[in-house]
Amino acid sequence: MSKYQVNNKGYYGPFGGAYIPEMLYPNVEQLEQQYLTILNDPSFKEEFEQLLKDYVGRPSPLYHAKRLSERYGAKIFLKREDLNHTGAHKINNTIGQILLAERLGKKRIIAETGAGQHGVATATVCALKGLECVVYMGEIDIARQAPNVARMKMMGAKVVPATSGSKTLKDATNEALRDWINNPVDTHYIIGSVVGPHPYPDMVARFQSIISAETKKQLLEKTGKSTPDIAMACVGGGSNAAGMFYNFVDDEDVRLIAVEAAGLGVDSGETAATTVLGKEGVLHGSRSILMQTDDGQVVEPYSISAGLDYPGIGPQHAWLFQSGRGEYVSATDDEAMQAGLLLTQLEGIIPAIESSHALAHLEKMKFKGDEVVVICLSGRGDKDLDNYMKYFNL
Ligand SMILES: *Cc1c(COP(=O)(O)O)cnc(C)c1O
Repeated sequence: MSKYQVNNKGYYGPFGGAYIPEMLYPNVEQLEQQYLTILNDPSFKEEFEQLLKDYVGRPSPLYHAKRLSERYGAKIFLKREDLNHTGAHKINNTIGQILLAERLGKKRIIAETGAGQHGVATATVCALKGLECVVYMGEIDIARQAPNVARMKMMGAKVVPATSGSKTLKDATNEALRDWINNPVDTHYIIGSVVGPHPYPDMVARFQSIISAETKKQLLEKTGKSTPDIAMACVGGGSNAAGMFYNFVDDEDVRLIAVEAAGLGVDSGETAATTVLGKEGVLHGSRSILMQTDDGQVVEPYSISAGLDYPGIGPQHAWLFQSGRGEYVSATDDEAMQAGLLLTQLEGIIPAIESSHALAHLEKMKFKGDEVVVICLSGRGDKDLDNYMKYFNL
């Protein structure tokens, strides 16, 4: 058993666990007892693989970005999650969880969403399966993310505003948890990243591990070797990074680099650089590292990219960081925007601003010339055009 994967008590080193109110215990316990059996069932695997292929469009290409490689003096490959149906990696997880929910006999799906990307991915699979879908979203986010709200509604989801607290993601999460407590029997809660109580972080990482499973095969074909020298990804909660690291984590020769959002700068007070500023604590049901005040109140994070605007990281990332297995770095809004423009102009690919954070770290690295670098291009930039337009006066 890998020391970097979850143990049978639900922990990664000191991180993880299930810190939940007693009233949620039956729901989480049912999941914990059944998820591995369901995931390993041949009929589940078959349907999951089929949908990833025919509905999502997998395998996503591993693209050798030649002009980007020339610029930085390394052999850089992009794992093209931006080409997935709905435009990002999140659909890998929601497909997995909707199939699980069906097998648990659940008829109703709930989810939380910040910018709406996870809400859209959830509404999509609910439409696909004809299941009732309720998405909790902060009132402020609903106003900021009108196109995603429209997408969810078009697919038949009910979008419920969270009107308490800061009226953003963490309040939407609290509303979703409250709903789950009140509807324990018929409802499954689809969490959108490698966060939440055990078994969610492990379950979501398994669904996203397809990213590195495909990468291994594709690297072998393209370079003659199945491992890269460096695997990189951006980190909000950490699901695309967890998927990219999953099959390389025990190969200590592979450097794992996770890029957080520094916002206006790590010391600016407007940031989401969790490992720089965070301390150990409990957030959304698991022990991890999170940004908090001295008396334990969660600090509102900030990043220009809504998907990285999260005050914590999943427990596996906290462990990879603390154990030194992973390198956790950050990129500012400005650095990410420039990196997004550079990729667009060198390769004709407009990345999601989240993914641009991973690209931005290339500027700070030194290469000998022949290193193989794999970067998870977690999503496409269509959703971010407004932001790019404002930033570059287009
Ligand atoms: C949501 C999102 C992220 C951040 O989520 P992780 O769980 O950290 O992967 C990154 N990129 C894109 C395109 C997203 O939509």
